Amino acid sequence: MTLRLHNSLTGTKDEFQPLENRHVRMYTCGPTVWNYAHVGNLRAFLFYDLVRRHLRVSGYRVTHVMNLTDIDDRILDQAMHAGTTIAEFVKPYAQAFFEDMAALRAERAEHYPRATEHINEMVDMISTLIENENAYIADGDVYFRIASFPKYGELSHLDRAGLKAGARVAADKYEKESVSDFALWKKAQPADERIGAAWDAPFGRGRPGWHIECSAMSKRYLGETLDIHAGGVDLMFPHHENEIAQSEAANHATFARVWLHSEHLADATGDKMSKSAGSFTTLRHLVNAGHDPLAIRFFLIANAHYRSRVRLSPEALHAAAEQVRRLREFADRVNRTSPSGADDGELARKTADVRAAYRDALDDDLNLPQGVGIVFEHIREANAALDAGRVGPLNQASLLAVIDDLDAHLDVVRAEEPGLAQEVERLIAEREGARKTRDFARADRIRDELRARGIALEDSKEGVRWRRIAPAG
Ligand SMILES: [Zn+2]
Repeated sequence: MTLRLHNSLTGTKDEFQPLENRHVRMYTCGPTVWNYAHVGNLRAFLFYDLVRRHLRVSGYRVTHVMNLTDIDDRILDQAMHAGTTIAEFVKPYAQAFFEDMAALRAERAEHYPRATEHINEMVDMISTLIENENAYIADGDVYFRIASFPKYGELSHLDRAGLKAGARVAADKYEKESVSDFALWKKAQPADERIGAAWDAPFGRGRPGWHIECSAMSKRYLGETLDIHAGGVDLMFPHHENEIAQSEAANHATFARVWLHSEHLADATGDKMSKSAGSFTTLRHLVNAGHDPLAIRFFLIANAHYRSRVRLSPEALHAAAEQVRRLREFADRVNRTSPSGADDGELARKTADVRAAYRDALDDDLNLPQGVGIVFEHIREANAALDAGRVGPLNQASLLAVIDDLDAHLDVVRAEEPGLAQEVERLIAEREGARKTRDFARADRIRDELRARGIALEDSKEGVRWRRIAPAG
């Protein structure tokens, strides 16, 4: 079977084919670093991880970009209250994001661009939109003119007439031509200057709106057309609609060929979990309450298909922990078995079938829960075979291969991070390169990110050495 993904744009499961042979360009909306990420966001971030892992298992090279939103209204408010700059205010939360991702074993994206470091790209794109008359300046703010983009609403299957009527209440607050027009740039206020949240632009000093970030940064790292754009379903409207409008109006090219959206995480009452709703649970809360990060990982990606809602509860997390325990126990048992007996041909055939069925489940719109179910069913049978001494060397190898296949996505069985040493060496080389070009901010950030993952760097005469330390926080 070939890989099929549910594309929100077409509303169907379509066969996946990247533009460039065996290379996938993927952009995913990352965290707004105004606080610790809540588990609802973490579900989306681990969904991105599942997509990238399955693409890699399927033989693709993946260039994955995940942005950090380090400027928005909430960050401005909080920095003002704290009497600090936005750069200082977001630091611990950006750091915490990388710590959470490492604790949950999310693979690292190739790029984590930050909005405030790409203001030039945003200013360029906004200038193009003004030139093309897709955008206009109103009292120092810049707005996207939705009437200039007839495709607006196609992704979320939005009724544009309904949008205008529904949004009328807010109309008086803005100098906009149409209430649904959205801000690309916001005029600088005196208070913004004090917290380092204002930049020069040909159309006036100010700061970028949220939506333009993703359009500008995805273009900078991945080009005009993405193979995959993913995000939580709550971002589909207006954020992703706005991204499409900005990018396609500026570039005159298709923005993203496949759109993937993961569903909400619900709280115990079944409502969507969100910070604004007050049901705010972070990874730290859960870990302090005694839950294992890898059980949380299992729960978030394997308990339900990514397009179904899933309800977070202590019972569900305990059940996930039990499944992780059973997988590890089985892997241990197979490893420890000395394969003395003859190989059971029937078991070998079934194991081969299970590996194929697992692969098919993942190829069918990343149905990891189904794949996990298939493997668990086989574990029962394999345990019976182990009891009866029917596992010879061939069966032992193929049972271990089943666990390896599963763990390529789940990543809860293995004890240590494989390839850690190579990755640390790669990051050290990257940091050395940054220092040579006097990009000290970047060099410092790489050191901080490694520290968050429990790796300390030491500069010595022989070069840079690294050692393990207790992770921060
Ligand atoms: Zn985005």
